[in-house]
Amino acid sequence: MKFISVAIDGPVGAGKSTAARECAKRLGFVYCDTGALYRAVGLYCVRNGIDPKNPSGCTERIKVEISLIDGVQHVFLNGEDVSEDIRLPEISMAASAVSAAAEVRKALLGIQRDIAANNNVVMDGRDIGTVVLPNADVKVFLTAKPEIRAKRRYDELVKKGVETTFEEVLRDLNERDYNDSHRAEAPLKQAEDAVLADTSELDFEQSVELICRIVNNVRERRNVL
Ligand code: C5P
Repeated sequence: MKFISVAIDGPVGAGKSTAARECAKRLGFVYCDTGALYRAVGLYCVRNGIDPKNPSGCTERIKVEISLIDGVQHVFLNGEDVSEDIRLPEISMAASAVSAAAEVRKALLGIQRDIAANNNVVMDGRDIGTVVLPNADVKVFLTAKPEIRAKRRYDELVKKGVETTFEEVLRDLNERDYNDSHRAEAPLKQAEDAVLADTSELDFEQSVELICRIVNNVRERRNVL
């Protein structure tokens, strides 16, 4: 059976994960947040005093797994459910740093491809349409103006009770985007065959509708189903 894959890439705070999760729900697909995998490796480094910029040898000591519990993705690091711990801002920066290492990217590639090989999936990340699933049925590159993305991320963190400022969030976001788009391995960039979607002026529901519309248009055109 050929499963359908939807690749959603884009910079920090473009609304990828929330919109992709809701789209997957509406389409009846599995949702896979690949950033969580890099975050788990970043968490391992932070916890063990390893410089995330130099995670050499780390992957041999780490087992990262993804599992769906009641339809929600959970991430396990050496058997421990770290789904909450990986969301802290310092882990975002560590994830960005470890994600530049070829060794880390290579170790996480199989997990992502296995999910797409066995499920209809909406997968979000930075290199899904370019490297992980270059033959994805639908590719969307989701973006928005940096200040708008930072405001969304800031509101999200404040809601979770994380102490931070808008300026700090904007600085981190710009730094992560710079790292992600300038690294040698699988840099963040729009795949040639991806549809560009700017959500600067859109609210959550409009972003979800836009992505679902792109998916349905492509499915109709290609007669995938
Ligand atoms: O998507 P999220 O912000 O949770 O990702 C955390 C970090 O993981 C990103 O800043 C990026 O450096 C890295 N990442 C990546 N490739 C992916 C997904 C995430 O390099 N496919």
